[in-house]
Amino acid sequence: MSEPVRAVVMPGPGRPLEVRRFPAPRPEPGGAVLETVASEVCGTDVHLHHGRLAGVPYPIIPGHVNVGRVLETNGTLRDAEGRAIEPGRLVTFYDVYGTCGSCWHCLVAKASTRCPQRRVYGITTSAEQGLLGGWAERIELKPGVRVLPLPEGLPAEDFMGAGCGGPTGLHAVERAGIALGDTVVVQGSGPVGLCALVFASLSGALRVLVIGGPAARLEAARRLGAEDTLEVAATRPEDRAAWVRDRTGGRGADAAIEASGNPAAMAEGLEMVRDGGRYVVVGQYTDAGDVTINPHRHVNRRHATLLGCWGYEYTHLHRATLLMARHRDRFPWSRLVTREYRLEDAGRALADMEALSVVKALIRP
Ligand SMILES: [Zn+2]
Ligand SMILES: [Zn+2]
Repeated sequence: MSEPVRAVVMPGPGRPLEVRRFPAPRPEPGGAVLETVASEVCGTDVHLHHGRLAGVPYPIIPGHVNVGRVLETNGTLRDAEGRAIEPGRLVTFYDVYGTCGSCWHCLVAKASTRCPQRRVYGITTSAEQGLLGGWAERIELKPGVRVLPLPEGLPAEDFMGAGCGGPTGLHAVERAGIALGDTVVVQGSGPVGLCALVFASLSGALRVLVIGGPAARLEAARRLGAEDTLEVAATRPEDRAAWVRDRTGGRGADAAIEASGNPAAMAEGLEMVRDGGRYVVVGQYTDAGDVTINPHRHVNRRHATLLGCWGYEYTHLHRATLLMARHRDRFPWSRLVTREYRLEDAGRALADMEALSVVKALIRP
């Protein structure tokens, strides 16, 4: 226990990652220490490395969605049902903590994802505060962090195959208000888009069409139940809207979910939605620029509902995880993990993620 532990540190935007040694952590009262089993590498980590997110207290230890084994607790750790979580248990946890419950956002707006006190593992926590990111051999769980034991029959690989895309995709689908028998378009075939596809299907969508790339990700989309897929790189914007209309009697889809990260996808996606349809933007996690839409054609005359979707709450993590366990035979989540890396290879993991040569990459300390 007292041996130093190793962690990957991102010293600042554009600077190479370093593996540093930290003193072995002991849990604070009400907290716990996990032995890391797997941590995700996602698009957010690429953005962090490019310095595209505001308010990041570099140096940081990346890795916001993780699975670990409980090593030690200080006091009894309990799940959302009040059951004790014993050492040895395989768990994940909600990466957001510190939400105050007493500010205007928490109390009045009931928008705790916008609470200024909110801290996020691997993103808004400094390496100087401890092992608060998953690219490390151990993770310190602060008191109050919501811990979720992985359900029976859901291995770490399956949970991590979706990673933060699971709860994010579920949240986007919840916002889209899918009705039984809907036709849904998903723009983007990364983990968020693929999870939106799955949760739209589970919500009763008759069919889901996925537009994205590269080919391996579209193949994954078909494996997860997409009725049809279209490769972005091989088509023009007007062809893509026509492709959707061809499959919807010329009307457009009941709902579309933007999970691509490309601002141009919005104007394009609004052309794919039927009159009275819904459009959810979840892919614009960083400011990638402006785009022109036509208020008359896209919104007013179309009688469209436009919705944003920022982050997720514990409820989305909880429900996404239980649904993944229940439907594991139908959706082969672990097959989305296309590569695993050790701590010393984290730099390569980031490069591969940026090049989209992997669907989901994991760090295995
Ligand atoms: Zn607050
Ligand atoms: Zn992520």
